[in-house]
Amino acid sequence: MLDIKHTICPSCSVGCGLNIVSKDGAVVGTYPYKRHPINEGKNCLNGRDSILQFEDSIEKASFVKNNELEESDNASVIKAIKDQLASIDASDLAIICSGNNTNEELDKIIEFANAYGCEKIGFYGSNFPNFSGELASYDDINKASTVLVIGDIYRENPLLARRVVLSKENGGKLINIDDVEKSITSLNADDFIQFTDDFNDKVASVKDQLDENSVIIVNKLSSKDDFAVIEELSKESNAKLLPVFNAPNTKGAMNRLDSLDCDEIRNIIDDSKVLIVVKDNLLDYLSEDDIKGKSFIVNISNEKNRFAELSDIVLPGKSWAEKEGTFTNCEGLEQSFIISAECDNDNLSEIEIFDELA
Ligand code: SF4
Repeated sequence: MLDIKHTICPSCSVGCGLNIVSKDGAVVGTYPYKRHPINEGKNCLNGRDSILQFEDSIEKASFVKNNELEESDNASVIKAIKDQLASIDASDLAIICSGNNTNEELDKIIEFANAYGCEKIGFYGSNFPNFSGELASYDDINKASTVLVIGDIYRENPLLARRVVLSKENGGKLINIDDVEKSITSLNADDFIQFTDDFNDKVASVKDQLDENSVIIVNKLSSKDDFAVIEELSKESNAKLLPVFNAPNTKGAMNRLDSLDCDEIRNIIDDSKVLIVVKDNLLDYLSEDDIKGKSFIVNISNEKNRFAELSDIVLPGKSWAEKEGTFTNCEGLEQSFIISAECDNDNLSEIEIFDELA
């Protein structure tokens, strides 16, 4: 029998509604969430492919020996982590969370870190610094006279790009700044400005085209300094600003934890004896040399990847569809989601894992 459950898409920070379709308990597909106000009955391919994460994932708590996972069980692996934690000082522990964690998981992990006395805790923010300033709303984009996009939202955040299309249909102008030669956003832009090492100058060059009816959307940054340049442009022109992220709950993580860049995470790894990483792949932004032979790595994730092979312990946790919680989207809206798939495994949720470790 087919079963349809509403959830929130985990594939970017726009926060679209998504339906998970199951048959006899097994996930078989997705379907757009017709009445959801953000995506209004549409999902992009990234969102529809979200269920592919069910395929070929790690299903057993494992010890890693010589880059190979040796399956074990939750109790043995949790005992091994507790033994490691008991053998070090609080200052030797570091925790890297991610924008894939729900708000409730982040609160639980922070509670654990505080109780343990761990101060080295944060998440990789893709060069976006913590930002608590006023955000443009999605409706601001629909009616903007000019939208400046830094990055390629047509490819990476298509349901937000749809708002830009609506603005263009209303006579709005799209300016795109990027370092690539050609992108989907650039091909749809009225003006495309490619930068090399002159990002500041190229950003400053559009100031006269922006005003209080404009929106600046940024989904790609080379450094935190570049964000300061964009923030300055927003202040000087009165244009509203909307940072957009790859992960569904980066904004929620940003509201609670320090957004770290690669250098900061390298320093944390160099300074710690045990590193707990929750739902993140460090190799997305660090090299193997940054990781190998340093901390004892506890990897809480069910993703089968090279980072799992370089870890010391892998605890799969639950996939997003197997749990409930909230994500805060890039517009600052907190949305709840319920369990939308029952999977045949004995994985603990991240909240249960940190309860056990406490
Ligand atoms: S735009 Fe983002 S949130 Fe919306 S369906 Fe696509 S990947 Fe999911």
